[in-house]
Amino acid sequence: MLYLIRELRQAYRLMRASHGHLHWWPASSPLEVCLGAILTQNTSWMNVERAIANLKNAASIDPRHLLRLDHSKLAALLKPAGYFNVKTRRLRSFLSVLVNEFDGELDRLFAGPTHQVRERLLGIHGIGPETADSMLLYAGGHLSFVIDAYTKRIFLRHAWCPAEATYSHLQAVCVRSLSHTPRSARLDYWQDYHAQLVMVGKEYCRKRQPRCERCPLRPLLPRSPALPRDCGGGVRS
Ligand code: SF4
Repeated sequence: MLYLIRELRQAYRLMRASHGHLHWWPASSPLEVCLGAILTQNTSWMNVERAIANLKNAASIDPRHLLRLDHSKLAALLKPAGYFNVKTRRLRSFLSVLVNEFDGELDRLFAGPTHQVRERLLGIHGIGPETADSMLLYAGGHLSFVIDAYTKRIFLRHAWCPAEATYSHLQAVCVRSLSHTPRSARLDYWQDYHAQLVMVGKEYCRKRQPRCERCPLRPLLPRSPALPRDCGGGVRS
């Protein structure tokens, strides 16, 4: 475990030195972060931005205004994000809970211990662990490490986790290894750590033909000739 802790902390130093601080999540309000976290499922961020721009042009980013839009109108606005009927249902479920149970106040939705708020979010239709943790970390100010498919691919290729590692396993490893910073600085650290992994996943650690030669994590590649491994796919909960 000590070896893994050293590797994961060094990974951040390398990624940060290469990319600088990434100031993720790109949104102008916590509600926009939440909407983006739902819309980004199975699509690129560029498509999410186009859908959010449509929402902003058609209605203010206010939970009550958005909830008043009927399904077909909202679906048309979300079309650039793909799977727009599914995402419309998910967005409306989230907005409905926010408006009807928390008076439209995100501060109230996010109030309480992290594990309780996480359970609350996971109880909403269409919100899984990655979406809930993204909302908690980037909109709610909660220490909830986000795991995604890029994280798992990078961890596997560096032999930092077994092939069968689940979302909870990977999250527990990250929390145990990356809690050394003072609590006041940890939110920013975890926010940027996830952003750095996403950047590495997009730019270098591609599903096929990873670009190890230019990647900041190259010094941490294991010596095994079997690596890097070709390992796409998502992360089981
Ligand atoms: S591209 Fe290569 S060096 Fe970079 S994270 Fe992936 S496996 Fe590691």
